[in-house]
Amino acid sequence: MKWMKKCPAGAHYTLSDICPLHHAPSSNPHPPKFNPKDKNGEMRRKEKGLVE
Ligand SMILES: [Zn+2]
Repeated sequence: MKWMKKCPAGAHYTLSDICPLHHAPSSNPHPPKFNPKDKNGEMRRKEKGLVE
């Protein structure tokens, strides 16, 4: 899935790295700070006693 990126010049979103309307670099409002799947997997392993 491709995230929509937020244009810095206005309250709208674009799929392009550069906003086609304002020619400004867009930013990703959903940065992947962590992987929730890895966290859930670790919790499941702890429940089963596979991880100290
Ligand atoms: Zn724009």
